[in-house]
Amino acid sequence: MARYTESVCRQCRREGTKLFLKGNRCYTEKCAVDKRHTVPGQHGQARMKKPSEYGMQLREKQKVRRTYGVLESQFKKYYDMAVNMRGVTGDNMLQILERRLDNVVYRLGFGESRPMARQLVAHGHVTVDGKKVDIASYIVTPGQVISVRDNARQFASIKQLREEGSAKPIPQWLELDAENLTGKVVMLPKREDIDFSVEEHLIVEFYSR
Ligand code: SF4
Repeated sequence: MARYTESVCRQCRREGTKLFLKGNRCYTEKCAVDKRHTVPGQHGQARMKKPSEYGMQLREKQKVRRTYGVLESQFKKYYDMAVNMRGVTGDNMLQILERRLDNVVYRLGFGESRPMARQLVAHGHVTVDGKKVDIASYIVTPGQVISVRDNARQFASIKQLREEGSAKPIPQWLELDAENLTGKVVMLPKREDIDFSVEEHLIVEFYSR
């Protein structure tokens, strides 16, 4: 567990920005990015120099991939899907990532972080339209209803959400019924719904090389 904790924060330090992978801890003074301003590793200081164009593209891709907790092969698959969709490839790609079930569970406030939301899904605590779905990469569509199952309703973070409502804003493409621990996908997410800074054109350039 301790090793996992370290590697998660190392990912943020490597990207030089908060990826918010540890829930509430990310907002405290314990955050590793706030405490240490070098990239991890023996030569961390030396690696702080200005990156090349390729380096910038790679880092942006890694930042987004790590934010959503997606493996490289899956991430490339999303890029290929985005290329084949109508519209702007970068926007399409972000939309697909946002529609992943683990992200939706996080955005509704059922999980404190994306990794915690992924665990809720993987452990079978979430339903989509009344049916258990334990696949974190499941892509939701407008009209679907996402709920927390009864067996997870006693979890501290879930109880808190039910009693106090969501501590963070719910994006406009989702609707939260905190009392019933239910959320609805009311529309597809738009570019402006992305809640962190991202230059998606760099990712498109990375894969277009
Ligand atoms: Fe760790 Fe969260 Fe800070 Fe990232 S943002 S370094 S996951 S505490």
